[in-house]
Amino acid sequence: MRVGFSFTLEASDGAARSGKLVTPHGAIETPTFMPVATYGAVRGVAPNELRNAGAQILLANTYHLHERPGEACVEKLGGLHGFTGWNGPWLTDSGGFQITSLADRLDVDERGVAFRSPLDGRTRLLTPESAMAIQQALGADVAMALDECQPARTADADLRVRAATERSLRWAERCRAAHSCPEQALFGIAQGGSDEALRRASARATAAIGFDGYAHGGLGLGEERAARSDLIAAAQAEFPAAAPRYLMGLGRPVDLLDGVAAGIDLFDCVLPTRHGRHGVLFTSRGLLRFKNARFREDPDPPDPKCDCPLCTGYSRAYLAHLVRSGEALGARLASLHNLRFYLRLLERARVAIAAGSLAALRAEVEASAGEEAP
Ligand SMILES: [Zn+2]
Repeated sequence: MRVGFSFTLEASDGAARSGKLVTPHGAIETPTFMPVATYGAVRGVAPNELRNAGAQILLANTYHLHERPGEACVEKLGGLHGFTGWNGPWLTDSGGFQITSLADRLDVDERGVAFRSPLDGRTRLLTPESAMAIQQALGADVAMALDECQPARTADADLRVRAATERSLRWAERCRAAHSCPEQALFGIAQGGSDEALRRASARATAAIGFDGYAHGGLGLGEERAARSDLIAAAQAEFPAAAPRYLMGLGRPVDLLDGVAAGIDLFDCVLPTRHGRHGVLFTSRGLLRFKNARFREDPDPPDPKCDCPLCTGYSRAYLAHLVRSGEALGARLASLHNLRFYLRLLERARVAIAAGSLAALRAEVEASAGEEAP
């Protein structure tokens, strides 16, 4: 581990574990969920609100911040900790996922990824070396290696996934060699699509390069839930147990608990804020859609079991009105509620792991995984 970092495992329940990840900007109790602040802000939610909701670490995106406002600007203003209002731990995503999400405007070759920016029409090249330099300038506590993320379900999936997985390993070595900041941890990413043997081999080779933590990339892109659990377990067996493990970009509450049960420590996903902006809430009784007319005159709190500002201060009827009128307050309060729901779910998972009762929590969340019946 780097200067100012440590990771201590505190309790376990089967393969699930809870622990404490110490970074130069604060300690993180794991497992936990990282709200996504792509451009250095969680859309519509202020840093003090995130902290009150239980957030311990935020995730920002290297490529998007490189494009706007540029890492030199962020670095000049004190890095992410000084530039944004969040002075707790930060993790920066390397930009590898944008190979999937922005696939129609980029080219990938052995050097790196060339993005054609819609902002100014310029082409920007992200290489393993520049991904490290940008993340060091942004000053995140945890940087991610640049990987090539390929969805497992394309026509020529097998060849593409294998080639991308092998290239990701070569890039991982280049990232490892280029990374020089002693106060920033660097995590490696295993790929492998839906091929269990390939994923295991990728995890083993990534672990052999030697990183401060390890991530599962390229999941949640169409594979079945049960198959995903097998893929995660195969890679987990190759990661060193003493290092933190991160499941990238997933998912629904049940997916998070599947990950917790497999021994994952860190999660992120845009789903809580994206759903929140559309008036869709995760609740203890399942998904609620506030565009639905049935909430028009409902005086109850959105989720009676939730302790967030929305559920302790407003009715379902008022939220439905805000959502249907397109008021920004509705999107904001709903996003904040969904983040609190996710963060509280992981808080409950930590308690359950210590008590040996994770199976009961999974059963409860499984039972409320669908949409609440009208
Ligand atoms: Zn709430």
